[in-house]
Amino acid sequence: MGSKRREIPVFDHPLIETHCHLDYLKDRPLEDTLAEARRVNIERIVTIAVSPANLGRVRELSESAPFIYGTQGIHPHEAESYTDEAEAEIRAHVGGAKMVAVGEIGLDYFYDNADRSVQREVFRRQLQIACDTQRPVVIHSREADDDTIAILREFEDTLTRRGVIHSFTSGPGLARYAIDQGWCLGFNGIATFNKAEKVRDIIRMTPIEQILLETDSPFLTPAPYRGRENAPFYIPFVAEKVAEVKELAIEQVLSHTYQNSLRTFFPQV
Ligand SMILES: [Zn+2]
Repeated sequence: MGSKRREIPVFDHPLIETHCHLDYLKDRPLEDTLAEARRVNIERIVTIAVSPANLGRVRELSESAPFIYGTQGIHPHEAESYTDEAEAEIRAHVGGAKMVAVGEIGLDYFYDNADRSVQREVFRRQLQIACDTQRPVVIHSREADDDTIAILREFEDTLTRRGVIHSFTSGPGLARYAIDQGWCLGFNGIATFNKAEKVRDIIRMTPIEQILLETDSPFLTPAPYRGRENAPFYIPFVAEKVAEVKELAIEQVLSHTYQNSLRTFFPQV
């Protein structure tokens, strides 16, 4: 008996969901989730790898439907499970036709699930994979602004494709660096949270040409559906919030973020 909530808006312009974890969704059958995503005009979905355990599952998902794409990489939470075998697996598959990036990789000093020096080493090794394979990267950075900047500086000249700093919750220093260096910043349901004024400030300072939309589902469900499991089909609420914060027409946000997603992940399509 849920309270009545505003329906998900359906836009004419297609959307690209640039960051979710389809293999973590539990609340409904995956085919229902995908059908609902198609109904709200999501044209492509990128599902993100996080650990040696789900590299293969992401590849399977990407082969299961033409509009699903994937990444290959190890999340900083899992940095201590990074092995030569995992690296070989990433290298072997990240160039596949349905694989669009190395990720998600980075540093998380909030949870500190892995030793920080191991996180840095694993981040560098995977940035090197992106250099060698000419893939963009999906970066996770939490409470690690200074080290993220320092490590990205080491790769400024070699990491030609750049990529996205996803679920951006870092400070204006990292935002400024990333914007100036041609990275995209990814925003999700956090932008709709009452307490997230700092994230909305970052949205204001980020050119619309460098914003990507994502859900990071099953986490971070946007208002007005907080409390339910997040899913890609809630991404229209993120688009609406970005339009509101940047004082742009929704059509402009949809068209720019769509082009930004293509430029970042699908340049030859
Ligand atoms: Zn994620």
